[in-house]
Amino acid sequence: MTATQERTAALRDQLVAWRRHLHMNPEVGFHEHETSAYIEAELNKMLGLTVTRPTETSVLAVLKGGKPGRTLLLRADIDALPITEENTFEFASKNAGVMHACGHDGHTAILLGVAKLLSANPSEVPGEVRMIFQHAEEIGPGGAEELVMQTGLMDGVDLVTGLHLNSQLPAGMVAVKPGPFMASPDMLELTIQGRGGHGAHPEEAVDPIAVGAQVVTNLQHIVSRGVAALEPLVISITSFHSGTTHNVIPDRATMLGTVRTFDAELRKRAPELIERVVKGVCEAHGATYTLNYEFGYRALINTDWVAEQLKAIALETVGPEHFRDARPTMGGEDFSAYLQKAPGAYFNVGSGSDREDSRWPHHHPRFTIDEDSLETGVKMLHAAALRLTLPE
Ligand SMILES: [Zn+2]
Ligand SMILES: [Zn+2]
Repeated sequence: MTATQERTAALRDQLVAWRRHLHMNPEVGFHEHETSAYIEAELNKMLGLTVTRPTETSVLAVLKGGKPGRTLLLRADIDALPITEENTFEFASKNAGVMHACGHDGHTAILLGVAKLLSANPSEVPGEVRMIFQHAEEIGPGGAEELVMQTGLMDGVDLVTGLHLNSQLPAGMVAVKPGPFMASPDMLELTIQGRGGHGAHPEEAVDPIAVGAQVVTNLQHIVSRGVAALEPLVISITSFHSGTTHNVIPDRATMLGTVRTFDAELRKRAPELIERVVKGVCEAHGATYTLNYEFGYRALINTDWVAEQLKAIALETVGPEHFRDARPTMGGEDFSAYLQKAPGAYFNVGSGSDREDSRWPHHHPRFTIDEDSLETGVKMLHAAALRLTLPE
């Protein structure tokens, strides 16, 4: 074992303790008061870090390295989700209706671990490492946007990286890819206004359920017929509400949906493509509509050369047998906000295993992680902190 490997292994119990404490005490975005106080207290136990609060519930730890070099930002998100946990282990959520179902408890523990390793040996660290424990990844407009736009966090940052645990990837695996990695998650809200009436006499009404069903079906024509097959686009209507009983045609139907792509141009065109369908179908059947469209996080496009460096670091740190080229996903991530200001790359660490029953999808009430993934995450981010450099 190298000295670094020994230090990482010694950290394992601590990582698990951090993660379980966070898992048991989840808080949703913009309300991470106890979470951020806990993180701050843990960071203050480490030597040589400057710990501050860029926003009410985020925490920043800065370490000045002993060697000259770049300024690197490492990011972990710290918020939980409004989900009722169904796990029964002893560290399951104590906060009713709130759960760490995305692995952000793990991300936070990993970055605390990296802070501990770096602060134990600052002389080996090049430049400056800023470690941001970011609030509110799961809730738009997102904590990253706030940190980037309203604080000086990114001033002077040359490079940024961070990771997401991934239950669909076996624990211990690392996956990186250059270029498009995660999609832009935009939202739509649609109300179809018909005319209510008696269920027995549809001819006297304008049935918003029948019209809405046509809209849902026709929106998929945009994906299958309106956009080139090699331009990934997802349109999902995820909520459809109308009516109250069996013999009344309701007045209106309301829908919510998500629209995802990697391509900035297609993203701009999507609202118009969608409205054309909604308008056409509604007009054909005598209904009217209101459509609200909200742009969410930007697509996450990794900087190629940073991703290549991370790949090289992974091959050396975890070995080729634990490395995989990542596949892009239609999921969204506000890590993309940092990439507006500096080059960088986001990557995945596998957390799925049968041993820990941790292959449930993210945001599922049974979600959990294989805690071995914490060590893998620390090894990767620690190596990145020591080795990521600007190109010559
Ligand atoms: Zn999530
Ligand atoms: Zn997440």
